[in-house]
Order: sequence, then C-alpha cells, then structure tokens
Amino acid sequence: MIVIVGAGITGLSIAYHLKKMDADFIIIEKEKEPGGLCRSIQSNNYIFDYTGHFLHGDSPYVARMAIELVPDIMRIERQSYIYLDKRFIPYPFQAHLHYLPIYNRIKSIIGYLYRKKRKPKNLEEWILTNFGIGMAEKFFFPYNRKLWQYPLNAIVPDFLSPFVPTVNLAGSQKDLGYNVEFLYPAKGIGEFTAALALNLPIFHGEVKRVDEEEVHFEKGKVKFDYLINTVPLPELLKMLELPEEIPSVFESLKWNSVLAVNIGVKGELFGFQNKRGYKRKVNPSGFHWIYFPEGNFPFYRVGSFSNVSSDMAPEGHSSLWVEISYSGEKPDKKVIERTIDQLSSLGFFEKGSVDHILPVYIPYAYPVYTMRRENDLKVIKDYLSHYNIRLAGRFGGWKYTYMEESILEGKRIAEELCQ
Ligand SMILES: Cc1cc2nc3c(=O)[nH]c(=O)nc-3n(C[C@H](O)[C@H](O)[C@H](O)COP(=O)(O)OP(=O)(O)OC[C@H]3O[C@@H](n4cnc5c(N)ncnc54)[C@H](O)[C@@H]3O)c2cc1C
Repeated sequence: MIVIVGAGITGLSIAYHLKKMDADFIIIEKEKEPGGLCRSIQSNNYIFDYTGHFLHGDSPYVARMAIELVPDIMRIERQSYIYLDKRFIPYPFQAHLHYLPIYNRIKSIIGYLYRKKRKPKNLEEWILTNFGIGMAEKFFFPYNRKLWQYPLNAIVPDFLSPFVPTVNLAGSQKDLGYNVEFLYPAKGIGEFTAALALNLPIFHGEVKRVDEEEVHFEKGKVKFDYLINTVPLPELLKMLELPEEIPSVFESLKWNSVLAVNIGVKGELFGFQNKRGYKRKVNPSGFHWIYFPEGNFPFYRVGSFSNVSSDMAPEGHSSLWVEISYSGEKPDKKVIERTIDQLSSLGFFEKGSVDHILPVYIPYAYPVYTMRRENDLKVIKDYLSHYNIRLAGRFGGWKYTYMEESILEGKRIAEELCQ
C-alpha cells in the first residue's frame, strides 16, 4: 500500500496518476478540503485564494490536463507592475528603466554596464553580477530582503535564475519571464484542485506520528509499503523518531511565512482616479499583481483577484490580496490598518469603500535556499529512504517550486512507483 501524506496539489497529482495506473494507495489530509495552498476560500460572497495562484509554465501536458479538468479555464495575459519612486512601472523592472527618474535610470544603466562579472557565491553577488549596483539597490536588494526575511549573502546564488527575466536597456519589453501568460479557473484555483481530487481515496485527519511501517493519524493507523510525504519537512521530522544527526539538520531548515490580507471593496479599483481621468504615465487599474520593493510599505506584493476573474467578487465590487512576509512571530494586526491606509492613499480604493477584510496566515511560504540546504536535504533523504519514505512537493521536498512542477513531479513519482 502506498500512503501519500498531504492532499495539496503534489499529493493530488501523485494520486491522480496512481489511480490511472490502478495502484493501491490512499491519501491522508488534515484539512476538511483537499488542495493545500491551492484551495480557494468563500467569504462574504468573495472568493479568495491563498494569494494569487496562477497556473503558469510551458508543459503542454499540464495545459491539456488543466483544460480536461476545468474545460472553461481561462488563458490570461499577465498585467504586472512595480511601484517605485512614486510611480507605477511595467514589469519587469529591468526592461523598463526609462520609466525611472533620470538620475536612477542613469545609475542603473551605468551600474549594469560596469558590473563585475564574477562567479557569484551568494544571492547578493548573483544580483550584482546580473544587474549591477544601480538596479540592485533600487529594486532587487530591497525586494528580496523584504520577501526572504533572510540575509541575501547567506542564500545560494542562482536558484532564482529561471524566474528572473533578462535585462533590456533598449526600451519596453513586457513579454519577458516565466509567467507572461497563465491559466486560471473563473472561480479560483480551488476549482482545479477540486476537479483533480474527484473520486480519489482521501482520508481526513492529521498525521501525528510515522514509524518504520505505520502512519498514525487522528482516526487510526495505516500500514505502508511506501510513504510519500508532502507535508512541510520540519513537521514531518517532528513525527519521526530521529537519530542524533538529524535534529541539527532540522534546526538548519529556514523559511519565511506570509500574512495574506484579502480585501473586498465596493466599486472598481482605482475607480475614483479613473473617473477624473488618470494622470500618471501608466494606468495600473487592470493590474493582476504589483511589486512593492520600498521599505516604507510593509508588504512586498499586492494583487487583484477580481481583475483576473470578475466571478471572484460580487457584482459592483472588487477584491485584492496583499502579501506581507515575516519570519517567526506573526505581524501585529496594526499592519493591516497601515496597509489599508497606504493603499487608499495610493488610489487603489477609497477607504470608506472597504467592505470585507480577511487575513490568512500561511506559516510555510518560501523555503530558503541556505548554504546548508542541499547537504542537509541529502542527509534527510538518505535516512528516510531506508524506511521507504520519499519527500515530494514544495514544502515536503523543501524547494522553490510552483504548481506546474508539482503536477509533473506527481506524474513522475506515480510512474516510478508503478514501473
Ligand atoms: C504566497 C504564494 C504564492 C504562490 N503563487 C503561485 C502561483 O501563482 N503559481 C504557482 O504555480 N505556484 C504558486 N505558489 C506555489 C504553490 O503554492 C506550491 O507550489 C504548491 O501549493 C505546493 O503544493 P504542495 O502540495 O507541495 O504543498 P501544500 O499545498 O502545502 O500541501 C501540503 C498538504 O499537506 C497537508 N498537511 C500538512 N500537515 C499535515 C498533517 N500532519 N497530516 C495530514 N496532512 C497534512 C496540508 O493541509 C496540505 O493540504 C505560491 C506559493 C506561495 C506561498
């Protein structure tokens, strides 16, 4: 019997593919609904995700599967911006430098042309090598510090390469990067995971302990021949009896958490300013998400569900999410008030039009690629492989992956197990 712990998108994909091959398996999931971070929340007639969850990538297999599972899934062209120097700049920053004030534009260009080309030893050096000091100081350093909540010179250099578009000094280029287009169901990403989960053998209950042959969960225990773990690795390690060398590995795992503040408002976003005739060079009102690198904003990104799909908000209303990264203690709720004040003063909405606020905490958001991560993961994986326990997914496998990769990883694992 194969036991999959966790019915997030990775666990569901493993199960979906195992089912196609008639394998003997079950999934154990602690929440009432499957989907993990790829669920949607219904609240006051709004639908929110656990911050924007857009299905991007270049796998024709995953695109076909998404269309099969959600036939009316939408294909959407990214509308993304950066808010910097009191202005909205089209994303990516490094291909729209002429939107910056002249001094910062020249500094960015000179920094890029005269950057030191060396083999970077950490993320800070990787940024300097690829973009130069001007762009680093203006965008990449403050944004990444805010997001990772970890010293950039203690993070490995190049894991971000697939996600960061190249520089274009010549002019505007919006179609750069890994997520120029994405797929999205009209009623939230939960539509996709609900379809994936249909008719799968999911047992609901929290797994509390795993020993050499059995998984113990709230409703009993199950014997396994093979166990695939997709729950956050630090949580799995707490469920096992570990030999001495593993707890030190456990302490070295670092991650950030995210407070997602979901906001519902009456009327359209930037509606007040649009009616008066938008005065800025770039009108961001149709934005899907906007990056905020500057330190005076506690959040690093703001997105809009209703701009992606009008079904996400009641008629005549709009919705947003705000992402605030933290490490350790949860941020004080005052940060929500400050966020609302700042967004309303930037013209996103009028303060009095806010009719719903739903804060959601995401305790595991981004696993940090520390210098020890690769080695420590190997120690853990080698140890667990003796007990036929395999790690998978973003937090189970402790890697910076997205949904498409989870789906493909699930397919790969199922095929390997059924060989
Ligand atoms: C802020 C943010 C934004 C993102 N945006 C995007 C995006 O736009 N596009 C994209 O492709 N990817 C995005 N991602 C990445 C995406 O969320 C992940 O790649 C994906 O959700 C990983 O799925 P998973 O199944 O590996 O993990 P999870 O979704 O975490 O699933 C793990 C499951 O295990 C369950 N579980 C935990 N503990 C136990 C226990 N003790 N017993 C039983 N069950 C348990 C959980 O309830 C959960 O269902 C984003 C991630 C974050 C944090």
